[in-house]
Order: sequence, then structure tokens, then C-alpha cells
Amino acid sequence: MKDVYEYIERNKDRYIGWLQDLCRQPSVAAQNRGMKEAAGMVEQLLRQLGGTAEQIPTSGFPVVYGEFQNDKETALSFYNHYDVQPEDPIELWTSPPFAAEIVNGRIIARGVADNKGNLIVRLAAVDAYKAVKGELPVKIKFLVEGEEEIGSLHLREFVDQNRDKVQADGCIWEFGYKGADGRLQACFGVKGMCFVELVCRGANTDMHSSNAAIIENPAWRLIWALNTLKTPDERIRIKGFYDKVAPLSVADREVLNEMDYDEESTLKKFGLDSFLLNLKGLPLKEKLIYQPTCTICGFQTGYTGEGKKTVLPSEARVKIDFRLVPDQEPHEIYRLLREHLDDHGFSDIELIPYTMTNPARTSLEGPLARAVVKTAKEVYGCGPIIKPMSAATGPMYILCQGLGIPSVSAGVGNFTSNNHAPNENILVTDFIQGIQHIAAIIDQFPREMMAEANAENREGSLT
Ligand SMILES: [Zn+2]
Repeated sequence: MKDVYEYIERNKDRYIGWLQDLCRQPSVAAQNRGMKEAAGMVEQLLRQLGGTAEQIPTSGFPVVYGEFQNDKETALSFYNHYDVQPEDPIELWTSPPFAAEIVNGRIIARGVADNKGNLIVRLAAVDAYKAVKGELPVKIKFLVEGEEEIGSLHLREFVDQNRDKVQADGCIWEFGYKGADGRLQACFGVKGMCFVELVCRGANTDMHSSNAAIIENPAWRLIWALNTLKTPDERIRIKGFYDKVAPLSVADREVLNEMDYDEESTLKKFGLDSFLLNLKGLPLKEKLIYQPTCTICGFQTGYTGEGKKTVLPSEARVKIDFRLVPDQEPHEIYRLLREHLDDHGFSDIELIPYTMTNPARTSLEGPLARAVVKTAKEVYGCGPIIKPMSAATGPMYILCQGLGIPSVSAGVGNFTSNNHAPNENILVTDFIQGIQHIAAIIDQFPREMMAEANAENREGSLT
């Protein structure tokens, strides 16, 4: 692969140019700003590299789909998105959010880390591999959606209508970072989510609070309901909530042991003295990665403005997210929550469902996992930190595990990339190494698939 790596090094200015061009095109899904233009640029670039490209319409923004080397049987897909978060607060940016300036070795732009950098890295890897080797050793599919930052609203619809296009033997997921220690992190899964709103209603109007002597206050009622959900020791009390939480294997624990988590700098960063329940070391990591959560995200009722206003509110609302782990199922959790509220005398509290996302996990032993880890050692000089799951959520299950497709993340973000925040950035050096890493994965993945098939054949002939 040395020849490909050198080609990438020689052509880096061209690749940086592609990234700057795409970053200079705002594409804010939440504001429907520049979406059409950005989708068009991605389609154009796919075609320019010799792939097929089309914009597949959905009920929302289109998915840009591209394919290379479709004569090969083994398929590797790349999932990315062309939409970005809004750039506010703009006054905190040290260089304009859509200028893509390079300052002190960093490219600064909205979307450069999340997710245009990773998209261009993958396109550049295809370009370099083809230029040096003539043809790709594997079929490549690009799935580039335009609604990731607003919750991938129509991704399931797209998957249902385009099963053949989504099908692959492995998928490289959209994000990826180096940690504070400078080592690449490879992430093998994401938590799921059940996001709900609880609404408790009282009288049909706000009232003078003297009426509180004889009329029930929905704010208190909602607090009493919330009080039944979780105990101060962090145990979620919904009956059946933990029933499907998969137990940890020996391998899971080993990986967790090796996983670096910088407790000190994390606490410092957030101005805290300790973590929840004073957790440290392995139990802290286990809770972060493998335990579900129940989080009050916001509570709204009555008057909280300046000064005082005595009032008996007519309504109280709370938004709650449950981060789920394999094999919890969001719709089932929603049903269990409803039953829990009913059983505790709160059947009057309305429950509104929002996001329902399944958790997803890929085995740490498989052709894709081996390809990502081996090639990282080669390109970065040391193996990646394996993160068996991200503590965050994404639509991985819809696109991958739900269809039997393993997926692993590998990308060019860093510990201070500021995703969703002012001065989003990536390092130019990470960008170049990232292209080399993806090119190496393209080369290695079909070999690992072949090795796996041969091993299975051998086993088959023995029995
Ligand atoms: Zn994002």
C-alpha cells in the first residue's frame, strides 16, 4: 500500500481543496439552507471519480447514492451525511464558519469534522486507490444522507425502499475521532434511544395560587410521577426495564479494561469534582458504555421568569430520554413506561413518543473489525482504542445491524473538534492519515472476507 500512501501525500492539496469547496457550501438541514447545492456537489464528485451517482428522493432531503466497481461481489459501504448543524453563535468563531480557512494546521469550518471531512476522506481514498491500482478490490457504496443532524427522519423510509442498495458485507460508520491521547478510536456500536414527553394537566387555566389549597397542582403531580422512575442510586424502577440488557462477556470486560478514559481531564473540562455516585475506573466505564440511562432533559411549568408571580399552573411537562443498550427495544420501553405510570396511579399523565432508536452493536471479531484494526496499526503506528459502543445514539441499527450488516466507525475528528459548536475543526495531518487508513481498509476488507470464507469452508469439509 506504500504506493497508495505516497500518492495521497502527493495529492493532498487537491483533496484539501475538495474539502474546502464542500465546507464553503453551507448545508444546514434545520434551516433548509444550501441543501440542494450540497447534495449536487456530492453527486458531482462521485461522478467525477468514475462512480455512478444519483439523488434518491425521500419525503425529506434526498440521499445521495454512489457506487464503484459493481462487478465485485463483496461490498463495503460508507455511511455519511452532507447536512451540518447551524453555525450559531457566530460571534464565537475565530474565523468565518463557511470559509474553511487553515489556521495552525487546522481546517476550521462548520461541518468539517461532522461530517464533511469523513465524507471527503472516503472519496479521496477511492480516488487514490483507483489511480494507483487501476481498479478497486471491492464494490464500494456511498450512502450520504441529508438529515442526520435533524434526526435522520426519513432514513428508515429510504432503507425500506432501497434494500438492495443498502445491502453490504460491512459498513464504515460516519463519525470517528482521536482521543486526548492522540490514538484513533474505533467504535463498534451506539446506544439506542426512547425519547418521550410526559404531560400532566390540571385545571383548564392557570389560576391565582390561593386556589392551591383546594385544587391539585399538576407540577407536583408530575414530580411525584418522576419520583417513581428512578432512585438516587441510579436504578431505573420501571418493571422489566433491565430484562433485555445483554450480560457482558469476558471479551467485553477485557476491551473495557483496555479502553482509556481520561477521568481527570474530563472532570476538569466540566468543572466537577467527581462523577455520578463517585464512580471511578472500570465501574465508571461500564456505566458509561454498557448501562442504560433515564435523563430529565427539561421541565416546564408555571412561571420561572424574572421577579415573582404567584400562580397555580394548569400544566406541567417534562422531556425524558432513555439511552438504551443491546438488546433493549425502544417501543417496548415506551410500553413498559406507560404500564409503570398506570400501575402507579398516573394513568392521567399523557405520554408522547418522539425518537425511537434501537441500540446497535457489532462483534469485535469479524472481517470488518479485523480490517479496521490491522490497517490502523499500519497507518497510525499503533492499534486503535476499541470502543465497543458509543455512549451516544445514531441510526446505525436501521442501516446496519437490523439488516445483518456489521459496522465500525473510523474517522478524522479529534478531542477538540468542537462538533456542533463554534470553531469546529480537524487537523490537516489527521485528514491525510484518514485517507490512508480508509484506502488501507478498502484493500484489506476483501482479504479478510476471503480468509473468513476459507476458514468456514475448511471447517465445513472437516465435519
Ligand atoms: Zn452532528
